[in-house]
Amino acid sequence: MSKPQGKTQLYVISWGLGVCSTAMAVMSVLGDLPPVGAIINCDPGWELPATYEARDFYADWFRARGATVICDKTGDIRRDRPLRMPLFTGSGVPLTRRCTGDYKRDPSRRIMRGLAGYDKRRPPHPPADTIEMWLGFTLEEWHRMKPARQKYLKLEHPLVRHKITRADCVTYLAKHDLPIPPRSACICCPFHRASEWLEIRETMPDVWIDAVAFDETIRDGTQASKPLVGQRLYLFKGMNGPEPLGSAPLEEYAAREKTLEWFQLPLLCGDGGCWT
Ligand code: SF4
Repeated sequence: MSKPQGKTQLYVISWGLGVCSTAMAVMSVLGDLPPVGAIINCDPGWELPATYEARDFYADWFRARGATVICDKTGDIRRDRPLRMPLFTGSGVPLTRRCTGDYKRDPSRRIMRGLAGYDKRRPPHPPADTIEMWLGFTLEEWHRMKPARQKYLKLEHPLVRHKITRADCVTYLAKHDLPIPPRSACICCPFHRASEWLEIRETMPDVWIDAVAFDETIRDGTQASKPLVGQRLYLFKGMNGPEPLGSAPLEEYAAREKTLEWFQLPLLCGDGGCWT
């Protein structure tokens, strides 16, 4: 493939740290996709230890092959403003999801504007299609593709374009003897499936203890702005509604999850989910 042509001045990869966006970045670095100007990760500050290990490994690996990698710690989602997350209210209705904008989309846009030579926040804005950002959606996720709201930004989906599936991404990394990163998301993400919480509980006891403690901290809603005080908030919603994470029957829910189609399951922020 040749480098894309046109009025675009800057190509970047949104590196969510999951398997698919990582594989896409490796493809670009190895020449199986065109090169980009930067590989950008915005980190809300509370991912799995294995995710940070994979990030550090790949950041070094990309840089050693000449790529520009920008890893920006955009805050501490656990402590800053937890109520920007789509936590579940007692009725099961989630709060508005503002965390992806705060911690991922807005910082990414500021970085890209700066790289393109524009003020990070203020007009003038770059002309239409100045920046092209690649998201790591795979073929199975084609229906999640959307245009960007900003005219200067074009969102591209090379994995969909080349009919690459998630399994292909795993195979590609393995073929190059590279580690397979875990699914990436904030530990406190309310979009975790029961099976994912179960895995955390069974294999990462320290992370589990922290997540349960976080769930208990948010319960009374007192961290909220005034209208929320008095609401009960939950990190987890089971098949019958929100419930405390620490006592949820995760085995039962995880078994029932298998009967759902994959597209009925929630989408986390990795690999481009934060742009949906
Ligand atoms: S992974 Fe979840 S908690 Fe983290 S920014 Fe995305 S939606 Fe918010």
